[in-house]
Amino acid sequence: MSTLVEALLEFIAEASTPFHAVSAMSWRLQAAGFQPWDGVKSGDFQPGQGYFVTRNDSSIVAFRVGEAPLSAGARLVGAHTDSPNLSVKPNPLKLRHGVAQLAVDVYGGALLNPWFDRDLSLAGRVSFVSNKGQLHSELLDFKRPIAVVPSLAIHLDREANSQRSINPQRDILPLLMGIDDETSLDFKALLAAELVQQYPEYENVEVLDFELSFYDTQAPALTGFNQDFISAARLDNLLSCYVGLSALLDADPSQWSFLICTDHEEVGSTSAAGAQGPMLLDVLKALSEDDAAERALRNQSWMMSVDNAHAVHPNFSDKHDDNHGPLLNRGPVIKINRNQRYATSGEGAALARLIAERNSVPIQSFVVRTDLGCGSTIGPITAAETGIATIDIGVPTLGMHSIRELAGAQDPDFLKQLLVGFYDRIA
Ligand code: ZN
Repeated sequence: MSTLVEALLEFIAEASTPFHAVSAMSWRLQAAGFQPWDGVKSGDFQPGQGYFVTRNDSSIVAFRVGEAPLSAGARLVGAHTDSPNLSVKPNPLKLRHGVAQLAVDVYGGALLNPWFDRDLSLAGRVSFVSNKGQLHSELLDFKRPIAVVPSLAIHLDREANSQRSINPQRDILPLLMGIDDETSLDFKALLAAELVQQYPEYENVEVLDFELSFYDTQAPALTGFNQDFISAARLDNLLSCYVGLSALLDADPSQWSFLICTDHEEVGSTSAAGAQGPMLLDVLKALSEDDAAERALRNQSWMMSVDNAHAVHPNFSDKHDDNHGPLLNRGPVIKINRNQRYATSGEGAALARLIAERNSVPIQSFVVRTDLGCGSTIGPITAAETGIATIDIGVPTLGMHSIRELAGAQDPDFLKQLLVGFYDRIA
């Protein structure tokens, strides 16, 4: 396995939620000499030096200061930190039939079937008041299997293989623990106990609120007879976040290079921390000398929006257009949609192809079948918000939005070569 893929699998295991993804990226950036910045005060930015800004603990913009004036343009890479999941409701406990269950909302367009019969853990951010009376938020990850959604046995539903559908309000509540008739439970007290265990400095806390989601504890792995595939949760889009980060760290430090990883893509990106929020523009404004310089920067820049693409599924190959069926391990995919569900222009696609050619990276194209609707991503949103010319690309994957997705084991390295070439302006 390549060192990049090995590091990617480690990152995915660590990044159980967008909060944990941003935390994992932040410490890797700091280890590489990047400094945290509040994104407000103008600083003494040194060429070659790196900085990063976070918002809501779940979105991050990292950049390297170039030698040329920023108004001459920059190269930006975007991705998203969130993935579909089951998210715990505010008053989640249901005590019935000898078990305690947690009620959940479905976050994003999750494929629900694969959530059954998995060893689930819980992670996210918890907000609480400490014994000193102050309000705090900390990241929490139980890291061990603490819940499961058992399937209904086929004996009780003979049509299960042909007709079973899932009612998300009723059918997917994870079982948390066994109880007896005397049991009374307080979910926030359970969280408080875990918090104090993980953060002993607080001694005791009163949990006020939380954003917690379930995830599968099965570790990311290489799979396939010849280890041709990566099998993991959240490949959409932690793969792009991690490869983007790795490319930024290896890119030419004399160029202006940005990496933007935002939350809430799976629910449309409209939030303070999302791609439709002001985070990126705030950073570009704060770094620009004046309004004219900032407009020049946006006119002169290119962005690659990186989000996974649908590979052809061999069992369902008629879901793709004959001439546009990306294959695993054949390189990144340029995503094109003339109706602007993807931001790629012909000019942008040509730039990506030239970089790929000069870096000997194989590259593929995707358009959706004309009789199917097209998904979208942060590309068109960022392009519309900033006016920066944007190219939508991503590695081909199977099982997108499942609890476990599949990608080619060679594609992360191809993607990284493409992104480093893009940052380094080899075209
Ligand atoms: Zn995505």
